[in-house]
Amino acid sequence: MRYSGPPGGFRVREIPIIRFSYPCYRCGKNVYITWPFNEELTSPESLSLVGEVLRKKEYSSLQVVNSQYTFICRNCGTQQGNFYLKTEAMHEASIREPYDYIEMGKQE
Ligand SMILES: [Zn+2]
Repeated sequence: MRYSGPPGGFRVREIPIIRFSYPCYRCGKNVYITWPFNEELTSPESLSLVGEVLRKKEYSSLQVVNSQYTFICRNCGTQQGNFYLKTEAMHEASIREPYDYIEMGKQE
């Protein structure tokens, strides 16, 4: 049988969400970060889709900038960079259960 995968290879239906608090590097106030834990999410399109779902759930002020997740501190407005957050998110994902799951429609 011929394999007919989805174009672009993006077929994610249920994505675990990690939630953790993280101190803003400028003002020190804790920001709640919600992070989609799925290594397949690398294309700007899929990141934007997930960001959209998270915003609709009002989890956080998440934005996708240059194909990277960025969080805005609600206290001082500073952007929290992707690199440190990702390191922290990977750590959190290894020590706790997902906070929630989000459903994504099949992209075909
Ligand atoms: Zn801040």
